[in-house]
Amino acid sequence: MSVDRNVLLDSFPELNRRLGAELFVQRDDLLPFPLAGNKVRKVAAELDQLAEKPDLIITNGAVDSNHCRTVAMMGARRGISVHLVLHGDTKAISHSTVAMMLDSLGATCDVVAPGEIALTIAKTESTALNEGKVVHIIAGGCHTPAGSMAYKEIGIRVFNEVLPDIVFLPSGTGATQGGLIAASKVADSQPRIVGISVARVAERGVAPVRHAAEWAGAIDPFVEFDDRFRAGGYGFADERVNEAVALGWRNGLPLDSTYTGKAFSGLISYARSGELKGKKVLFWHTGGLWNFLSRS
Ligand SMILES: *Cc1c(COP(=O)(O)O)cnc(C)c1O
Repeated sequence: MSVDRNVLLDSFPELNRRLGAELFVQRDDLLPFPLAGNKVRKVAAELDQLAEKPDLIITNGAVDSNHCRTVAMMGARRGISVHLVLHGDTKAISHSTVAMMLDSLGATCDVVAPGEIALTIAKTESTALNEGKVVHIIAGGCHTPAGSMAYKEIGIRVFNEVLPDIVFLPSGTGATQGGLIAASKVADSQPRIVGISVARVAERGVAPVRHAAEWAGAIDPFVEFDDRFRAGGYGFADERVNEAVALGWRNGLPLDSTYTGKAFSGLISYARSGELKGKKVLFWHTGGLWNFLSRS
């Protein structure tokens, strides 16, 4: 099943009234994949571009990482072994649903302190190379040129169908936003791409988004990376985020407080300021249902 061409546009008339704008939603949370999200497009593109099928993929992320789960799933599907270097609480993972899922998929993992990630990856790689295996290492979050390019390609298709004035999405490592910025430069309506930071302050977050846009062919990209809705950082939420999540669900749009709820709280705030009046607004839904289900 191919995911790269899926345009999944949705609309929410009740929300239009509340926001005073015409809202479209690209539902990457509904890609044909369990607990789908933006990692599906990024990881599929990353694996599709490899010249040779690897025996082993190594990647890293938090214990609860959507990226790592997606890599485990896609590796299993393609007959490639997956080793995950996870950071976080060993106890939190040992009897968790996450561990059960990764185990069911046949992925192996190490849970290490953040400072030991690079060394653990290097050791795992060298052991596999010594055994004559072909190894592919994927950067955390699939922050890769192929991942960014995947979002450029789908961005152009979606933008040319909706002709939005402005696009909102949650932005983390920035490959998704970078790809959409590159898409905007060549799309018919050339929408503004507003990345709402889910973790990083702008000082740290803008450069990786710019790099990702350049990977996808954008020259001198302009990056709007709004860090006013991060609610204290990755995984934290405040009242504004919780309100946005609640508003989404009550209108049949599932959101989570780690990613999509933050982006939606940004969108709501722009709407309240009057900036979106009469505009065509596209909300790029990047997934996060698992994050909603697993929040404690
Ligand atoms: C990883 C993730 C993001 C962030 O994507 P980046 O390309 O790293 O900026 C946003 N939303 C969800 C649900 C994610 O899992």
